[in-house]
Amino acid sequence: MSNRIKGLHHITAIAGDAKRNYDFYTRVLGLRLVKKTVNFDDPETYHFYYGNENGSPGTILTFFPWANVRKGRNGSGMATEIGYSVPTGSLEFWRQRFEQENITHGEITTLFNEQYLPFEDPDGLNLTLIVSAETDERAPWETDQVKQTVAIKGFYNVTLTLRSIKPTATVLTEIFGYSFVGQEGNRYRYKTDAIDTASIIDLIEAPMEANGLGAGGTNHHVAFRVENEEVLMEFREKIVKRGFQITQKIDRNYFYSLYFREPGGVLFELATDNPGFATDETIQELGSGLRLPAQYESIRSKLETILPSLV
Ligand code: ZN
Repeated sequence: MSNRIKGLHHITAIAGDAKRNYDFYTRVLGLRLVKKTVNFDDPETYHFYYGNENGSPGTILTFFPWANVRKGRNGSGMATEIGYSVPTGSLEFWRQRFEQENITHGEITTLFNEQYLPFEDPDGLNLTLIVSAETDERAPWETDQVKQTVAIKGFYNVTLTLRSIKPTATVLTEIFGYSFVGQEGNRYRYKTDAIDTASIIDLIEAPMEANGLGAGGTNHHVAFRVENEEVLMEFREKIVKRGFQITQKIDRNYFYSLYFREPGGVLFELATDNPGFATDETIQELGSGLRLPAQYESIRSKLETILPSLV
């Protein structure tokens, strides 16, 4: 249904060294760099978007890499784990790959009757690979080292850690159209039936948990997906009616968005499918050049000398 929240759009996190981040996500994990641009509020910093071949919503993890960023800390009021969907039978490939690449990882475990493998990126960001019980038809990006039979398909879920889940659960169920589907320990699972993939939000209730510290290796915000600007503004009205502060519509070049802080403390964004990433380069070219918003084109040569090399 076109007027609903269609699962996750993207997740944005904070990294340290740009080249290390680029190497990890493109080479080790085999994702596609879909867009290489700058932080619109701080153009001397990159903004990387990693995803599948087309840069489809629900596959996009973005980073602001700051070379000297201090280390953050996961805690309450934060997205604390990102789950990627991988093909059946691929987890052993990934476990061995993480061994070879000295990537911090856990053991293959089961949660909600699905196998998953937890690991960390070089900045300590928590990630997991999950074999979904439901078929995931999304075509992944393929590289020399990470072939289609094992490649990451896009997001499966995101986990939020909260002292009390109720206020956040109310936003998910009463505004966003998610339903409670199960519990394991202190993890409560919510899912939308508006879309088949990237449709799950897990809430961890941790009453004694200290607030997280947003810095390197932590998530900055979670963006939910809407079809277009009309639906975006319908949701703005619903959120305002509930008494939350929310921004005006912001043009992010590749989507339009709104931001609000949900009552558990996590920064939520709503982002549109339109216009998408193939606006200033073709699908084939995605991520190949430094793309700047119009206001920074005049300082392109300066930025190209300041921004760190990725090769
Ligand atoms: Zn965002």
